[in-house]
Amino acid sequence: MKIGMAEIAPWLTPALPTGHEHAHWMRAASDEARRGLDAGEVPVGAVVVRDGRPIGAGFNQPIRSGDPTAHAEIVALRAAARAVGNYRLTGATLYVTVEPCLMCTGALVHARVATLVYGAPEPRSGAVRSVMRALDHPALNHRVDIVGGVLEAECRELMQAFFRQRRSAGSSREEVAGAG
Ligand SMILES: [Zn+2]
Repeated sequence: MKIGMAEIAPWLTPALPTGHEHAHWMRAASDEARRGLDAGEVPVGAVVVRDGRPIGAGFNQPIRSGDPTAHAEIVALRAAARAVGNYRLTGATLYVTVEPCLMCTGALVHARVATLVYGAPEPRSGAVRSVMRALDHPALNHRVDIVGGVLEAECRELMQAFFRQRRSAGSSREEVAGAG
């Protein structure tokens, strides 16, 4: 019987090349976003990864949780911090389907996240590149590496599907704005 390396020691599986790894985890984040879509929330999903493993995930859910801070990134960071028993997530990468808002960029700094990888830009509230460049502020005591545009078309399509649904249901976009 032939036994592969993955069966003996799955953690020894060679790491995927960076581009593939980003796409892999962004797909996991978009699965989270789809859960948000199914729940009637603006579909944004996030996954926190460290040492090649997911340690926290979440989707945008301010309506169902009655919590204005329940953006996907915050939900995922809270889950990750609980999982590792530390509010600092040094060395972690946060994957999120849409460019984060100002609140979430602040949370990334508080958590000491090493790298942010996002999918689609958010022209109305994106605080990384679109509306402002909050993470570039010289006064910040922590630097976050930024990779944007991973699976951008797929992430954007999820948002567009949501707003198409809302429009056909007769609601305005403004009512549900600000979920990045
Ligand atoms: Zn946010």
